Amino acid sequence: MINTDKGIYIHIPFCASKCAYCDFVSYAGMDSLVDSYFEALFRQIELFPYDGAVNTVYFGGGTPSYVDACLIAEALEKTAKRFTLGRDCEISLEANPNSLSPEKLKVYKAAGINRISMGAQSMDNDILRLIGRAHRRNDIIRAAEDVQKAGFSNFNLDLMFSLPCQTAEDFEDTLKAAVDLGAPHISCYSLTLEENTPIYRLYEDGTYSQDDEADRQMYHMALEILASHGLKRYEISNFALPGMECRHNTDCWDFCSYAGFGAAACSFLGNARLETTGDIGEYIRTFAEGTGEWDAASVLYEETAGELAEDYIMLALRKASGLDEADFSARFGEDFREKYQDIINETVSEGLAEEERGFYRLTDLGFDFAGYVTKKFL
Ligand code: SF4
Repeated sequence: MINTDKGIYIHIPFCASKCAYCDFVSYAGMDSLVDSYFEALFRQIELFPYDGAVNTVYFGGGTPSYVDACLIAEALEKTAKRFTLGRDCEISLEANPNSLSPEKLKVYKAAGINRISMGAQSMDNDILRLIGRAHRRNDIIRAAEDVQKAGFSNFNLDLMFSLPCQTAEDFEDTLKAAVDLGAPHISCYSLTLEENTPIYRLYEDGTYSQDDEADRQMYHMALEILASHGLKRYEISNFALPGMECRHNTDCWDFCSYAGFGAAACSFLGNARLETTGDIGEYIRTFAEGTGEWDAASVLYEETAGELAEDYIMLALRKASGLDEADFSARFGEDFREKYQDIINETVSEGLAEEERGFYRLTDLGFDFAGYVTKKFL
């Protein structure tokens, strides 16, 4: 039996259209496969050999709010049947502003979903158009109001910066508007250029360019504006009012186990990572009969102790609280301080990191060079 004592991730790979920067496993124009996909998903959930309790369920995508809300409710019902959901289980659903409606929100609420994470990205209509988002500023405002009217006090807005043609003033306006909407949790991600996306080609041919200085300026602006409204950075890209941190993601950064269901879903089960095929057709065929194992059509990778320790460090350094040295020693049987003494001393003397009461963490300056510091440990 597999003990997954923390989280469940459920991937819903359907979207209204494909954004210009997106390389997630998500598909537009595949609506005819939605019903059979959910049949396969229900079967995969039923097949999981489970013994343990679940604290969080996370519907990610893709755009979970794009499909019929009743399918999401049914997926949650199957999950609750197969697993023991904790009494205060955090149940999150990713949504896009233009596919949310009061009717759908009512169904989510009745099903037990208690957190909505909305992909707003920008409040500037020209930028939204440039990056291929299907919604506009008014849709975000309307959707955020609907979310709150439906009784979801726990919701997140995803924002992006370093976007094409985005000025510091544009981003400031986006941040302020997001705060004005009352979001108790905001995620801010810098645009990552992924090969094979339409936007990548525009940067490659020189239509747009990225500017590290502007990127850092916008990040610091987010830190300042969000902090002035009580939203504290608890992870490199995530900010929340006290008590409103996303538990599902926090558990992932804390190296807890989770099981993933759906095409392209990943699981982390103690010392093994498992990735299910991202090919929807193959996923549906594999689980249509429901006779195989829950991990069919998946690639399993058992990590060595060294790889696990590196993953642990990488995730821990994303958190504002940093790396718990005692926890590291307990997990890996090695003294963190002793093992990495040179790196610790060097990064602390450079002002990139600090040590306090058994925690090693990045400083404000260190967060600007997080990749550089993390690489030293790998
Ligand atoms: S809505 Fe999200 S998952 Fe879908 S295409 Fe856009 S970025 Fe990708």
